[in-house]
Amino acid sequence: MATALQARCVFLGAPGAGKGTQAKKVADGAALAHISTGDMLRQEVAAGTALGRQARTFMDAGKLVPDDVIIGMVRARIQQPDAKTAWILDGFPRTLPQAEALDRSLTGATALTHVIYFAVPEAALVGRLSGRRTCSKCGAIWHVEHKPTRRAGICDACGGELAQRSDDRPEAIGKRLEVYRSQTAPLLAYYRDRRVLREVDADRSPEIVYQELLKLMQ
Ligand SMILES: [Zn+2]
Repeated sequence: MATALQARCVFLGAPGAGKGTQAKKVADGAALAHISTGDMLRQEVAAGTALGRQARTFMDAGKLVPDDVIIGMVRARIQQPDAKTAWILDGFPRTLPQAEALDRSLTGATALTHVIYFAVPEAALVGRLSGRRTCSKCGAIWHVEHKPTRRAGICDACGGELAQRSDDRPEAIGKRLEVYRSQTAPLLAYYRDRRVLREVDADRSPEIVYQELLKLMQ
């Protein structure tokens, strides 16, 4: 078990780079709040809220949910008591306007401490995404080849049913990678200029990547 980290980080990388899996693991191990905009949106969709209905049409098409919707949701989340001083943002920001809005929301004692870029070759990303399955009950992430469950289609952690996210279906994957290249990749230069960018070679085993993340986030 790692010790608590006082870090406020963004995990940045293409879809399938392993950000979500590592964010959960680091947050649990080092007592940080895990703020996944994807999970938050999926909860809104499942609950059938107005925000969820609005978000769904974009997600099903592999598109990004509009900036103002996401920004409002994240601002509210980082003001919660469990997220005052230490958190990992997973899946946000994804566009330059989102990054600028985040900088405006965070000042002094709440400013970002790290932005970690998960580097993975594009060919590896497609295999990772298309085989990914998510537990519909507890949100655990599995993979049909790289991290199979003991019983096909059933979560080892809670017995819930596994599902393929609509945006992990083949027709949405190409679109997501294209959106990443055009809208999210420019954030690397933005954060490099602000001297907060660190890079991890994420095309390695999850355990090695995890250990390196803990070192980078000290
Ligand atoms: Zn589960």
